Amino acid sequence: MRTERLLLSFLVVVLFSTQVCAQGMRALTLKESLERDVNGPREFADKQFPPHKIIGNLYYVGTGTLSSFLITTPQGHILINSTYERTVPVVRDSVQDLGFRFEDIKILLGSHAHGDHMEGDALVKQLTGAMVIAMDKDVPALEKMRPGGKPHPIDRVLRPGDEVAFAGMTLVAHHTPGHTDGNTSWAFQVQEDGKPYNVVIVGAMGGPDRYKLVENGQLTQVGKDYAASYKLLRSLPCDVVLGSHAKMYNMHEKYAALSMQMANGPGPNPFIDPKGYLIELENTEKEYLYWVEEQKKAEAAKK
Ligand SMILES: [Zn+2]
Repeated sequence: MRTERLLLSFLVVVLFSTQVCAQGMRALTLKESLERDVNGPREFADKQFPPHKIIGNLYYVGTGTLSSFLITTPQGHILINSTYERTVPVVRDSVQDLGFRFEDIKILLGSHAHGDHMEGDALVKQLTGAMVIAMDKDVPALEKMRPGGKPHPIDRVLRPGDEVAFAGMTLVAHHTPGHTDGNTSWAFQVQEDGKPYNVVIVGAMGGPDRYKLVENGQLTQVGKDYAASYKLLRSLPCDVVLGSHAKMYNMHEKYAALSMQMANGPGPNPFIDPKGYLIELENTEKEYLYWVEEQKKAEAAKK
């Protein structure tokens, strides 16, 4: 009995310390970064994850793997990433579970023109009447995204660095191409306890192996795009790192730390992770640099 109790308390300590210590982003080895799968199984991608406050007026309303973020204001809300059309009801439930009205979404933004982040735009537009705003270079890919034949709504087209201002919030659309031509990383400030915090939602920097990065020993346009996007992202101040997939910022571990606080009393907000931002950039850049070298080698071997 005593050993059992000891074992139990040991497990609690281990569980607690791993959750408290491992919530921030961790530097991955090259092997780990190549093997990391941000998509996960479909059941997980389609299921609701407990919606939660991240910081200030910013909330998580996505699935187990697909991030969707809600910024609330008294004049209505901003939604970033509609996700798949089939997961829009999951996002809607999460918004409502937090006590907000889905119909109060006034602006819809997205991370990049892939179905897992923006396929649901037409349905969200239909349900809320929100203004749909997209980066110019992603417009051709978005126009091809027509679930059930519905045309993709686009009400305003952005140029790199344009701002979306609404009800006291200003979001800067940083153009970070590579993953898609119009891949967009959103940067903005939120307030918590009277202090400003810089938030960056990284569009996506993974998947460089899908592209031809090198030609005649030189970087192609996509290869150069990735490099320029890393440079731009590194220049942004960031206290709270987020991304279009939950795994891009260790959401599960950070949420677990938050849940521990709910049980054990308040502590520092696990989502404030400025070092984690640079670590995550390094983790994905490792993968990019690896594929540049591999493609150079493959090209040289052919000659
Ligand atoms: Zn993508």
